Amino acid sequence: MQQARRLCCANSMPLTGVFMVTIHIDDSNPFPNFPVEPENRRESFADFCKREAAGLRLESDEMEQENREQEELNALQKRCSERKSALLYNNLDLILRHREEIIATPRYANIDVQYAIKGGGLYVGHLSAVRHFNFVGTLVSIGLKLSSLLEIWDNELFKVECKCGDTAVIRSFSGSPLSGESMATAICPKCKREIRVKNRSFGGYCGLMSIGHERDIEKVVKSIIAKWTLAEVAYEKNAAEGKDAKWRKAGRELHDDGEPCNLETMINELKLKEFQLASR
Ligand SMILES: [Zn+2]
Repeated sequence: MQQARRLCCANSMPLTGVFMVTIHIDDSNPFPNFPVEPENRRESFADFCKREAAGLRLESDEMEQENREQEELNALQKRCSERKSALLYNNLDLILRHREEIIATPRYANIDVQYAIKGGGLYVGHLSAVRHFNFVGTLVSIGLKLSSLLEIWDNELFKVECKCGDTAVIRSFSGSPLSGESMATAICPKCKREIRVKNRSFGGYCGLMSIGHERDIEKVVKSIIAKWTLAEVAYEKNAAEGKDAKWRKAGRELHDDGEPCNLETMINELKLKEFQLASR
């Protein structure tokens, strides 16, 4: 039950008079009893004194250094992503001209482009196009693939007619899942004009972006499972043939897709290809 306690403060200042202050204290919720909570990690005062006497800190210099270095790496990663995003949109016409070729070429289709599309809104926050997983202490980041971005842009929701006659594509959106209202920004591949788009389906933007990214996560995981199956088969074959199974395990037989292609290389290759075709 909520109780209100009335406190009176009489201030005996002869010139300014007497002040009355009413303070309401809500004590319907008792002060939490931290020590009995099963997940309590708060330190008691006695433990604090013991730890201080032993010269131990909750966060050591080494931990702080690691955090600082990670922040530096994150800042560098952010600058790199901004540069890549600018490069992608500066070459949007080239990329869209080669849409089918990119989708059909795994080393182009599988380029991570999580920086190329930004979405978010009220209640849902920032919609990230990259997910970071910790699998037995090994960090794996799976971003939105270029082929998925091109497929997202193939939906009418992500297309806008530009004044120049070309079709612009949406690169950022925000809105509210409650009202469904949205604001978006599109870029024209031809004249590079930025176009503001109002009140299209916010749920549609989020849904199409999420589906594309979730398919990419599935693609990566299934690829690892398939490659592991091949590795086990190769290992068992070697063991059956009497090859040194004692010092070789299936892990040695696990192979990846080889050197990944990056956006910079793909753009250069596509430009060279167009140049060679034009100069024939
Ligand atoms: Zn245009």
